[in-house]
Amino acid sequence: MKKKRFKKDEILGFERALLAEKRRILKERDFNRKVMDSVGSQATGDLSAHRSLTADQGTENYQREHASRMRSLETKTLREISDALDRISKGTYGTCEKCGKPIPRARLKAVPHARFCMKCMKAAGR
Ligand SMILES: [Zn+2]
Repeated sequence: MKKKRFKKDEILGFERALLAEKRRILKERDFNRKVMDSVGSQATGDLSAHRSLTADQGTENYQREHASRMRSLETKTLREISDALDRISKGTYGTCEKCGKPIPRARLKAVPHARFCMKCMKAAGR
């Protein structure tokens, strides 16, 4: 068996960071949903009462688009986070899924849910 790369408290630190990020996203998502709801209900009122307010309509579309873009990004990040938590429980956390090399600690500290090392991520063109 190969030696464990991280100490237990180090792994706990990453786990805490992942869970904190997850909570932050869920909270933000909840907030965005409330904003969306209020935008939606205002829009229905505006639409019937002031049909000439096309500028507002444009802003609203932009907000809607922005919110939905944010939401798909959040969903993606949430998936990355839960995969990372999975890797922690399997003991494969911190290993590049592509080349199998260890992901540098500095990178994991910046992006706790990173699944590839910098080299492989660049190679993937992202
Ligand atoms: Zn790699």
